[in-house]
This record gives sequence, C-alpha cells and structure tokens, in this order.
Amino acid sequence: MGSNRELECWQQLIQSLTEAITCEICLDREKEISFRCKHTACEVCASRSSFSICHICQEPLTNHRRLFL
Ligand SMILES: [Zn+2]
Ligand SMILES: [Zn+2]
Repeated sequence: MGSNRELECWQQLIQSLTEAITCEICLDREKEISFRCKHTACEVCASRSSFSICHICQEPLTNHRRLFL
C-alpha cells in the first residue's frame, strides 16, 4: 500500500512550510516584516521597542519594511 508513508511525507512538507512563515520569536504569528538583513519576523515582534537587533544575525535593525503589501 504505502499510502501512510506518503501521507507522512505530506504532513512533514506542510509542517516545514508552516514553520517557514511563522515568526521565530513568538512562534505564534505569521512573518510580516522583512529586515535589511533579509530575516523576517511578525509585525508585533518587529515593532517592539526593545527589539533593535536581528534575532538571527544580530544585525542592527533599521528601515523595516513590510514583507507583504
Ligand atoms: Zn513574532
Ligand atoms: Zn538578520
């Protein structure tokens, strides 16, 4: 049969796609903001006043821009 294995593959693919669009900081919302370093976060995390360097590469954050218009 092998259909269970196929279903598992799809579930893993969907999970990885979901992780790709989910904010790594809060793991709660979708990424909406792209930083100059090309890393991304959700709008809520990106707009926190304490959030002034990239959570991934530590690049200082200036000129946020929206990922999706
Ligand atoms: Zn977030
Ligand atoms: Zn970065």
